[in-house]
Amino acid sequence: MEEKQKRFLNKNPNYHKEYYQKNKIRLDKKAKEYKKDEKIKEKYRKYNKNWKIKNKERIDTGNKIYKKKYSKKKENKIKIKAQTIAQKIPIPKKRLCEMCNKNLAILRHHENYNKPLEVKYLCKICHYKIHHS
Ligand SMILES: [Zn+2]
Ligand SMILES: [Zn+2]
Repeated sequence: MEEKQKRFLNKNPNYHKEYYQKNKIRLDKKAKEYKKDEKIKEKYRKYNKNWKIKNKERIDTGNKIYKKKYSKKKENKIKIKAQTIAQKIPIPKKRLCEMCNKNLAILRHHENYNKPLEVKYLCKICHYKIHHS
């Protein structure tokens, strides 16, 4: 605490009390609002959790339907097949990424899903760049 503040509090030992008394209504309201806020948050958390439990089946089915739909599309079928095949291709140990030549390659990337065996060995960062640019 600063000297000035200390001296001030020595002279006015009831400063905090007085401050509270003066602003009681405002401070109490604030505290109440805060508590209410917490209650609402808690309620919301519980509600969310219950919703997930209650709707678990629906969510699961939704996911399944999405997966089914996804894998039924022709271009996705080719992609999934290529990825399944490529998963069996081992990534050479200590192989550097073919794009940046700096990081270790940990992923296989297809330039053409119709050629599932032709993969590029890439690091995570470069692979992300390829798919998101
Ligand atoms: Zn890279
Ligand atoms: Zn890729």
